[in-house]
Amino acid sequence: MHDFKFKNNELYCEAVKVSDVVEKVGTPLYLYSHNTLVDHFTKIQKAFASINPLICFAMKSNDNMAVLKTLADQGAGFDIVSVGELKKLKKIKADTKKVVFASVGKTEEEIVEAIKAQILFFNVESLPELDEIDRIAGQMNKTARVALRINPDVEAPTHAKITTGTLKNKFGIDLTTARKIIKSKTKYKNIDFSGLHVHIGSQITKSEPFVNALKRVIEFLNVLRAEDGIELEYLDIGGGLGIIYKDEKPQTAQDFADAVLPYLKETGLKIVMEPGRFIAGNAGIFVTRVLYLKDNGVKKFLIVDGGMNDLIRPSLYDAYHEIVPVKKKTGKKEVMDVVGPICESGDYFAKDRELPVLKKGDLLAVMSAGAYGYVMASNYNVRGRAPEVIVKGSQFGVAKKRETFEDLIKGESVPAFLK
Ligand SMILES: *Cc1c(COP(=O)(O)O)cnc(C)c1O
Repeated sequence: MHDFKFKNNELYCEAVKVSDVVEKVGTPLYLYSHNTLVDHFTKIQKAFASINPLICFAMKSNDNMAVLKTLADQGAGFDIVSVGELKKLKKIKADTKKVVFASVGKTEEEIVEAIKAQILFFNVESLPELDEIDRIAGQMNKTARVALRINPDVEAPTHAKITTGTLKNKFGIDLTTARKIIKSKTKYKNIDFSGLHVHIGSQITKSEPFVNALKRVIEFLNVLRAEDGIELEYLDIGGGLGIIYKDEKPQTAQDFADAVLPYLKETGLKIVMEPGRFIAGNAGIFVTRVLYLKDNGVKKFLIVDGGMNDLIRPSLYDAYHEIVPVKKKTGKKEVMDVVGPICESGDYFAKDRELPVLKKGDLLAVMSAGAYGYVMASNYNVRGRAPEVIVKGSQFGVAKKRETFEDLIKGESVPAFLK
């Protein structure tokens, strides 16, 4: 599952005591487990071993270079959504031929850089985008490989802000248009239609929505084959596998594989997958320190030094994160809100949460913060972003330093005419 466990009432990440990291690095901070990242990646790889898919880690969920290197060393490819992500992959010398590129708004620079990097394919989200890739590839005298991202119009039960697979969302191309495009493929001189892409949303805990989407894909492939005589090479089934935050009972990698493998095999195509949260989510925690306790007679508040600028998921997605004291406490419990110092009512990590009695200086771990945590951090309220630390066995190292005030004002100045 994950490598954050209590030993002698102290929280450890692998063989490292969390409080030892805090002593060295301060709070707040993000802490990742190397072993957990590898374990989650391996679980998917094993479950799908019979079809040997290319597993492209969705790096928008966690783009720390130590995390990326860990996964690249396991043979992972990457699912990117910007040229910045591509540049980070080059920094760690990842194989850019194992990269797929999604995003509804790719710019010319992004398309050029991705073609130069010889990525596996673009996941194309609209007709104008396809025209643009065709034009740019032509200018560069190159052929660009693309997978059309189809929108299968299936519901996936998850939070409204992370569902993507219905026609009410901006993502993908409807099936009728997709078929028209593929049928007219000779029009696109500089495009190689390599495959189809489908991604229906995130934090999906059941297999049905995936199976429903795959059934649509198979029907579509069959029409292309039988009526249009068109064969594709790849099917990219996206990401979206859910994890445990609270009391979800998500499918394991093996359950998921058992449910979808028959359909994947039926397509006869090479399979690409894009898991993000499943690999990184439970491989990281956010550690914060209690500053104050406040009791206004109606409610109790535990004010901590981390805020929504560090971890926005509770505020943005109404997300639940388990919160545990880094030093186990027994005895009396109280109900309280765990809040940050930021001037927003939405700045909280938990509402009406039962926690042991805590005092100033105590450390708390916000669990399952490895995906969509640090990557969404901001400098709101002129707060430097927290450091990211990675643990491997008994070693730990800072993978990204805490931002200083100098970092925060870099490039900022008052223009001469205001002086
Ligand atoms: C966000 C995203 C993913 C990863 O989703 P997870 O829920 O983190 O697995 C994969 N593919 C695409 C296209 C995405 O936008």
